[in-house]
Amino acid sequence: MVSFQTVKGTHDILPEEVGLWRCVEEKVRQMMEAYNYLEIRTPIFEHTELFSRSIGQDTDIVGKEMYTFSDKGNRSLTLSPEGTAPVVRAYIQNNLGAQSPQVKLFYIAPMFRQENPQQGRFRQFHQYGIEAIGSLDPAQDVEVITLAMGIYSELGLQKLSLRMNSVGCRICRPIYRDVLRNFLKSRISALCKDCVQRHEENPLRILDCKEPACREQTEDIPFMIDHLCPECSRHFAKVQELLSQLDVAYVLDGRLVRGLDYYTKTAFEVLSGELGAQDALGGGGRYDDLIEMLGGSPTPAVGFAAGIERLLMVLSREKRPRVSPRSLDLFVVVLGDDAKKVALKVLRQLRHKLVRCDTDFVGRSLKAQLRAANRLGARYALIIGEEELHRGKAILRDMDKSQQEEIDLNESVQEVCDRLARRSP
Ligand SMILES: [Zn+2]
Ligand SMILES: [Zn+2]
Repeated sequence: MVSFQTVKGTHDILPEEVGLWRCVEEKVRQMMEAYNYLEIRTPIFEHTELFSRSIGQDTDIVGKEMYTFSDKGNRSLTLSPEGTAPVVRAYIQNNLGAQSPQVKLFYIAPMFRQENPQQGRFRQFHQYGIEAIGSLDPAQDVEVITLAMGIYSELGLQKLSLRMNSVGCRICRPIYRDVLRNFLKSRISALCKDCVQRHEENPLRILDCKEPACREQTEDIPFMIDHLCPECSRHFAKVQELLSQLDVAYVLDGRLVRGLDYYTKTAFEVLSGELGAQDALGGGGRYDDLIEMLGGSPTPAVGFAAGIERLLMVLSREKRPRVSPRSLDLFVVVLGDDAKKVALKVLRQLRHKLVRCDTDFVGRSLKAQLRAANRLGARYALIIGEEELHRGKAILRDMDKSQQEEIDLNESVQEVCDRLARRSP
C-alpha cells in the first residue's frame, strides 16, 4: 500500500502549533505597522531570471538551491527563494514610487530553497521581512535594524547579538575585489573547487564559503571595512553613531557578506546565543543598485528578512507565548434525524452571530457527545432529543456547573446568546 509523507525538508504545521504561529505572525504584523510598513503579497513563483539577475549567478542560492521548473508554456519559473526581488519587481511594475518617494513594505510568506535539511532549516520555510525603498539616509538603515531587533525583544528573546559590516558600493567594491584576488592568489590551490571559480568571478563569495579549508585560508584576510570609499565610509560611520545613540549594541564582522550579491554598504545579521554561531536568525542590508538592475529608475533601498522556523526554535528554548486553544461556546447534542434537521438550523443562526459551536456528524451516543463537548471545552451543550423535540423543547446544559434545564427550542438561539453575553468578561 502506498502511503505518502511530506517531501524531504518540508513540514506540516498542525492545528496544535498553529496558535503559536498566529501569535508570532500577529506580533510581527503589529510591530511592522507600528513602524508604518504596509503589507504586500507577491506570487509564490516568479520568472527565474528575476532571481538569477538579482541574487547573483555565483551564489549558493542561484547555483544550487532554487526550485526551478518549466511550465507548459516552456517558461522557466522559480519558487521564491527570498522576498526582496519579488517585492522590488512589484514596486517597479506597479510604479509604487510615483505615490511617494518613501515606500515601506513588509511581507510574511513561504520561501523555497533546496538546502540540506537540518534543525531549523527547511526547504519550504517561512520568512517575514521589510523593504524600505527610496532613502539613502543612514537613519533609514537604523530604523530597519531597530525594527528587526525590536520584534525579537517584543517576543521576549534574549541573548541576541547584532553583527554589522559594510560591503561597499560599485565604486569601492571592485577595488576591494582586486585586493582580495591578489591576497588569495598564492593560496588558490588550497581553496575548494567552488572558491577557485569564485576567485575569478566573485571573490567576496569566498568569505561566505563554509568549507573549513577556505575558512582557514581566509582567516587573516583584508576586510572591506578598511577599503571603503569616502562616501561608504561616512555612511557606515553614521549608521554606527546612530545605533550607539539608541544604545543598540553591535559587533563589527568583516566576514559578513550575506548570501546575496545585491547588498551594498550596510549588511547586518542578528544571531541568537541559542543557535550555533553560523546560524543567523535573520539579517539584511542596503541594496542601492538592485532597483536599477531590475529595470527601475535608480532608487536606494534597505531591508531585512528573518526566518520564522528559526525564531520558533529559539522561542522553544526560552519562553514561548502561551497559546491556549480556542474553546467552543456550544455543542449541540443531536439524537435522531429530526433533531439533526433542527440542529442544523440552530447552528447556522448561532454561527452567523459568530458563536463558536459544533455538533455530532458521526452518530455518537448521548454520553459520547457530551464527552466530546467536554473535550472541546464547550461552555454549554444544547441537547435536542426526539421526545423534547415533539414538545418544542430542548435541554440547555451548563457544562461547568453540570446543571441543566428545559428551554423553548424556538428561543434557544436567543437564550444561548444572552447567557454567553452575561458570562463574557
Ligand atoms: Zn563605496
Ligand atoms: Zn570554498
